[in-house]
Amino acid sequence: MTQAEDKALVLFSGGQDSTICLAWALARYAWVETVGFTYGQRHMVELACRSPIRAQLSKMKDWGARLGPDHMVDLTGAIKAVGSTALTEEAEICLTEEGLPNTFVPGRNLFFFTAAAAIAYRRGLRRIVGGMCETDFSGYPDCRDDTIKAMQLALNLGMQRRFILETPLMWKSKAESFALAHALGGPELVALVVESTHSCYLGERGIRHPWGYGCGQCPACVLRAKGWEEWQARLPTELGKR
Ligand code: ZN
Repeated sequence: MTQAEDKALVLFSGGQDSTICLAWALARYAWVETVGFTYGQRHMVELACRSPIRAQLSKMKDWGARLGPDHMVDLTGAIKAVGSTALTEEAEICLTEEGLPNTFVPGRNLFFFTAAAAIAYRRGLRRIVGGMCETDFSGYPDCRDDTIKAMQLALNLGMQRRFILETPLMWKSKAESFALAHALGGPELVALVVESTHSCYLGERGIRHPWGYGCGQCPACVLRAKGWEEWQARLPTELGKR
């Protein structure tokens, strides 16, 4: 099957970053499919956000006509078999001796990209979009730009295709991500990101902060809150530029 230049597959978890990536792809490509992974996450809250987010995005602009099917891949067995972490077990979240959060699932994004590329191969999709980010990242080595570039090369050689791995948030801070959401879909998309996406490691959705739902304490919540505040502080200047 040929790979269509304007067809994409988005790694879509239901979190803030992957939701903004999905909007980014919908604004840019004629056909966009999504893929989500279960890997024994402690909390399935994030995944439960996926369908409502897809439904809301399909009502914005002309995105409904571009949004293709959703694929779910269960990697639980594989990831459980090779190691467990605080994201998949009832352990407290802390930093390891290497300075990595113990939520690190070794090579998780490598699994994700390999599975996504196999789907993209079958579906004739050229672009694979992920929300990896090196700017604000918690030190996850599989989020690094070099990792993704090496992965693209490995997948293209190993599957004899010309995939393009795209990471629109790679060099953006969380504040810049909010700004991107605003540029792509205005206040409507920002509201969707705040209300409907989930980042909290603890799966907390009881408390609604200005930046969305979460415990407010875990690294993901702290990052999201900080990004929101930074973006809010910059917003008047940004809007004035229009
Ligand atoms: Zn949290």
